[in-house]
Amino acid sequence: MLQFKAPKGTTDILPDVARRWQYLERKAAELFSLYGYEPIITPVFEHTEIFQRSIGMSTDIVQKEMYTFMDKGGRSLTLRPEGTAPVIRAYVEHNMNLLPQPVKLYYTGPMFRYERPQAGRYRQFWQLGIEAIGSDDPAIDAETILLMINYFKSVGLKELTLYINSMGCDKDRPAYIRLLKDYAGENREKLCKDCRKRIDLNPLRLFDCKEESCQLVMQDAPKMIDYLDEACKEHFNKVRQYLDMQSIVYIIKPELVRGLDYYTKTAFEVVSPLLGAQNAIGGGGRYNKLVEEFGGPPTPGIGFAIGTERLSIAVDKEGAFVSTDSKMDVFIAIADEAAKSAAINLLFALREAKISADIDYMGRSLKGQLKYADKRGFKYTVFLGSRELESGKVAIKNMETGEQIEVPLNELVDKLLEIIKQNQPSISQTID
Ligand code: AMP
Repeated sequence: MLQFKAPKGTTDILPDVARRWQYLERKAAELFSLYGYEPIITPVFEHTEIFQRSIGMSTDIVQKEMYTFMDKGGRSLTLRPEGTAPVIRAYVEHNMNLLPQPVKLYYTGPMFRYERPQAGRYRQFWQLGIEAIGSDDPAIDAETILLMINYFKSVGLKELTLYINSMGCDKDRPAYIRLLKDYAGENREKLCKDCRKRIDLNPLRLFDCKEESCQLVMQDAPKMIDYLDEACKEHFNKVRQYLDMQSIVYIIKPELVRGLDYYTKTAFEVVSPLLGAQNAIGGGGRYNKLVEEFGGPPTPGIGFAIGTERLSIAVDKEGAFVSTDSKMDVFIAIADEAAKSAAINLLFALREAKISADIDYMGRSLKGQLKYADKRGFKYTVFLGSRELESGKVAIKNMETGEQIEVPLNELVDKLLEIIKQNQPSISQTID
């Protein structure tokens, strides 16, 4: 028989985990807005050129990992592999340079890369990201890094390692690239086939190679951070000072170039010891040329992206998901068909009062309904039948203790509100 399964590299986010993601996203929205960020939602696909121009033709993402297709109108479109280029395209398209600067935006949504799937690496994965566009002030670099760290802390992550680097700019990079090319050329024989091509195409990408022999060669390669011009050096030192001021611990990692071409000056990455081989939980950097690349005026920018799957795994391993209580408040057990209409009225009255409630829709016997209420984890069951309707009294059963009390039917909603308030939070308050 034919078996239908989610495509390779994709996962269904089932309710238990989806609830956690909602919590992570809510925490992000709260904190990001505290720092002045506003939400933006861009399309899941863009013109292919958007990514070719920004991420770079010779990067792994563009060369090997993009989901590119022709639509029925003959346009080449690509499922977004990352969130920055679309946001910058939107910034330019909507003349956001005319707004008070910097423009601070955050997003969340799925990204697509045709990578080899493994634990923590998927073909569709979600990112939470921010972009601060319009300022080159090193204080905003520090703020961006700090925001990422503070976000991780706010969801309970403790042990994190922050790596930072400076990637220089169009003034100091060309001379450095010549040096790097010379060095790589001298070591050509020790490099893999892909890296040999990278020497001429885009030598910075040599630092991204996963081959051990290439990494060994690159250990001794000249590093951008040692060839920064005065302005970039000053910028980087200021970023460091601001981080020091906030007691943020970091490691300078000269090999940190990140897999995209658009970065200038500050680059950073955070790794978690709770994750396996794919331990980068978030990363970002400055991109001072990107707005121009999309036809806008020269405008600096900086941002980061956090991988939601990896974040969720790390928070779980840290044991920091406070509660994923999905228990509903009240189940209305219908004792006989005559009470069904009254039960439905009651059901909506309860929900109106913000009490989570449900009834049986499967035609179960009373015994079956109770079994269901127990399995599904309702906190209370209310019994409604013609007897209750005649006497005007209903029983409320505490499903945990088995205790039962009787209350007047016309006071039921108020009584339930009172009881629920006295006890632990319900799904309507969820995790926090
Ligand atoms: P990047 O855009 O490559 O800098 O990625 C930013 C963050 O997204 C990384 O630190 C990861 O947490 C996450 N990420 C990147 N690629 C994947 C992937 N294929 N699967 C899952 N998460 C990913």
